[in-house]
Amino acid sequence: MSGRHEKDKGVNVQVLLRCRPFSEDELRSNAPQVVTCNDYQREVAVSQNIAGKHIDRVFTFDKVFGPLAQQKDLYEQAVVPIVNEVLEGFNCTIFAYGQTGTGKTYTMEGECKRAKSGPNGELPSEAGVIPRAVQQIFDTLESQNAEYSVKVTFLELYNEEITDLLAPEEISRIASEEKQKKQLPLMEDGKGGVLVRGLEEEIVASATEIFTLLERGSAKRRTAETLLNKQSSRSHSLFSITIHIKEATPEGEELIKCGKLNLVDLAGSENISRSGAREGRAREAGEINKSLLTLGRVINALVEHLGHIPYRDSKLTRLLRDSLGGRTKTCIIATVSPAVHCLEETLSTLDYACRAKNIKNKPEVNQKMMKSTLIKDLYGEIERLKAEVYATREKNGVYIPKERYYQEESERKAMADQIEQMGVLIETHQKQSEEWRERHDARVRQCSDLSSKLSATEKNLNQTIKLLTCTEEELTKCRYGLKERDFRV
Ligand code: ADP
Ligand code: MG
Repeated sequence: MSGRHEKDKGVNVQVLLRCRPFSEDELRSNAPQVVTCNDYQREVAVSQNIAGKHIDRVFTFDKVFGPLAQQKDLYEQAVVPIVNEVLEGFNCTIFAYGQTGTGKTYTMEGECKRAKSGPNGELPSEAGVIPRAVQQIFDTLESQNAEYSVKVTFLELYNEEITDLLAPEEISRIASEEKQKKQLPLMEDGKGGVLVRGLEEEIVASATEIFTLLERGSAKRRTAETLLNKQSSRSHSLFSITIHIKEATPEGEELIKCGKLNLVDLAGSENISRSGAREGRAREAGEINKSLLTLGRVINALVEHLGHIPYRDSKLTRLLRDSLGGRTKTCIIATVSPAVHCLEETLSTLDYACRAKNIKNKPEVNQKMMKSTLIKDLYGEIERLKAEVYATREKNGVYIPKERYYQEESERKAMADQIEQMGVLIETHQKQSEEWRERHDARVRQCSDLSSKLSATEKNLNQTIKLLTCTEEELTKCRYGLKERDFRV
């Protein structure tokens, strides 16, 4: 099957480029255009003036969407196939990467206020990838007459802290008073992934419900303004849709197919270069950028095939580990502005996006679960939660002082890092010992060559000695004969 072939070789991360139209401000100030898109050739040209010389740099991507491309065009050409794969049981991730104000949120969420939707609940033309994906998922599932469930989560990652954008109001109000509670911890799920402890999973029953959720979530996102120093430009948001679909085997067994779509609106990429310089001096700036910086390092390590990939260094890369070099199908939408005042950031986005084209993932379809196994898992989960509720109520769980908890957490992390380093060390040692073994084998071979040569030479020598003895005997005989003849004469 072609699937196996694909699996062995790996599939490149798909990278798309979108250039937004000029904003009204830019039009008013007559900002010169430096980015030209050729959607058909899949090329983007950037013109620069260096020392009075006009230089054009051209970049090629898997798809290019110029300023005239509508939300619908991008969705139909780039996202429809991805959502179909999610429905087939793959995990897929779409990242939006780019400078603040270039259209990441516009592309991912769009303008999708319920008030703007059409008469029959159809999506407004400005709706972005998230509402369209939800719509496509429900349309497909309903047309298949399948039994299914759709769950969504929506979180924000700011300053290495996770906030649930779907948490019910009253909880988040209490939480904001009690600040520590608001942050949700990341936990290993025991299957090689991580999960966000306590994250609200909202079951969605129809596409229109998504408006309510998005409105609720987006309102919570810290601020809608896109000025450089505003928090919204420094936070990442992750919207995930998980689909379970019931299937029946010919034998009448019930199987559950599962697919997940992650939609990531990253922090503004200018934060890497600008406040990144202050990292270390200002802890906050460092923390804010940690996830974006680590994402860049992970991409570099993957592209350059370095042994150690620093996934563990940030929450973003821990959460999305499988989307970078893993079993998930991944797509990056890089966004740029056409105007000259963004030139430097535009070039850095284009370079970054080009690099990311070289990442290879090994997509694998999720294994179908037997319904009975799934139910058993869920019962287990219910038992665990019950015990937690009980422990909290009775206060007979394990309670440790916060300082100790943090200390133990940091010790645990240090140990995990140490283990990782040791792993690398072991690998190096193994390589070295292999080298030594090879050298040893070569020496042994050389030795046995030499000893066989030696025994051949010895044999030769013996023969020569024998020959010599015979010759000497003959010589003596001859001499004797000669003397005898002389004597007779
Ligand atoms: P980001 O999330 O990257 O900071 P936004 O999505 O907030 O950027 O976009 C900034 C502004 O530009 C918004 O007012 C948005 O409506 C507008 N915009 C972005 N991309 C497009 C586009 N392709 N077409 C029309 N308007 C756009
Ligand atoms: Mg945004």
